Amino acid sequence: MTIKNNFIKSTKRAGGIIISGPCSAETEEQVMQTAKRLVDIDAVDLFRAGIWKPRTRPGMFEGIGAAALPWLLSAKKETGLKTTVEVATAKQVEDALKFEVDVLWIGARTTVNPFSVQEVADALKGVNIPVLIKNPINPDIDLWQGALERIEKTGTQNIGLIHRGFSSYGNAEYRNAPMWHLAIEMKRRNSDRLFICDPSHIGGRRDILLEISQKSIDLGYDGLMIESHITPDIAWSDAAQQITPEALKELLEKIIWRKENAEISEHLTLQKLRNQIDQLDDELLQILSKRMQIADTIGAYKKENNITIFQASRWNDILTKVYAKNQSLGLSDDFIKKYFEAVHLESINHQNKVMNS
Ligand code: PEP
Ligand code: MN
Repeated sequence: MTIKNNFIKSTKRAGGIIISGPCSAETEEQVMQTAKRLVDIDAVDLFRAGIWKPRTRPGMFEGIGAAALPWLLSAKKETGLKTTVEVATAKQVEDALKFEVDVLWIGARTTVNPFSVQEVADALKGVNIPVLIKNPINPDIDLWQGALERIEKTGTQNIGLIHRGFSSYGNAEYRNAPMWHLAIEMKRRNSDRLFICDPSHIGGRRDILLEISQKSIDLGYDGLMIESHITPDIAWSDAAQQITPEALKELLEKIIWRKENAEISEHLTLQKLRNQIDQLDDELLQILSKRMQIADTIGAYKKENNITIFQASRWNDILTKVYAKNQSLGLSDDFIKKYFEAVHLESINHQNKVMNS
C-alpha cells in the first residue's frame, strides 16, 4: 500500500491531503495555538513544524531543536492532529521517533546530498514511518529520484514527494522557480506516489499561494503543504509566505479540486477530444520523420558537394518565416523558438551522421 492510498483515505477533503503548520516551531504557546486554530478550520490532515532549520546563511533562526519536540507531542495529544517534522541526520530521526512524530520529511537542502540522505535512510531501517521527500534545491530530478530510491531501500513503504521549486539566481517572480516540467516528469516516473505541492516555498509570498496551489491541483497533485502561523508577520522564519489558519481556510475554499483519474468512459467528450489529439500527434510524428529523411538526403548532397551543414542565413530565414506565419496561428513565440530549435538540432544531427558515415 502506498502512502498515497493511506493518506487519501484519511484526508479531510476529496481533493487531496493538506499539510500545514508553521515554518518553525518558535514557542510552546505558538505551536499549541497554531495546532488548535488549524483544528478549528477542519481541513488539515497533518501538522508540520520545523524544529531543525537548515538556513542558507548562518545567523538566521536555526530552529529550537529537540527541545521543541515535546511541544509537538503535546499539540498532537491535545488536538489529535498527526505531526510531521523535517529531519536531516540520524540523531534527528531518532529524536523525532522518540516524540511520536507520525511522518518525517526530508528537506530540499538535504535531498541534494546523497551522504545525508543515506544517513537518514540508515536510521530508518526497520522503522517504516511515512517519509516525504522534497525536491533538491537544484533542478536535478535524478538526485530527487536517487533520494527516493535510498529511502525505498530501507523498506519504508509510504514515501511521498513534495515539489517546492528550485533555486535560481535573480528570479523575481518566485522564491523558487517551479519548473513545472521537472515536477511533471518526476510525477510521471512515480505515478503511484503521493505528490504534494509546497506553494509556500515556491512562491515565497502570500499573494501567489492560491495561483500556485490551483496550478498544482490542475496538474493532478495529491495535496498541498502550506505554512501557517498565528501571527505570520512576526514569524521567526519565512514571514512573508506564511498565512493564518483562517486565511488557509479561505484559500482552500477557493481552490477548484479536480479528479485525476476520473472514469473516462463517463466523459465521452473528453475521450473524443483525446482521440483527436492522439491522431494529430501521430501525424506530427510521421511528418517529423519525413522531414528528417529529407535532412538525410540533404546531408548526402552537402557531403558530395563539400557544403557545410549549418548556414546561419538559411536558419535565420526559417525563423523569420515561421514567426511571421505564427502571427495568425496562436502559438507562443517562446514555443515556436523552442520547437524549431529542437527540430533544427535533430536535423543537424541527422546530417552530421550522414556526412561522417
Ligand atoms: C520548510 O519546509 O520549512 C523548509 C525548510 O523547506 P525546504 O526544504 O523546501 O526549503
Ligand atoms: Mn519555511
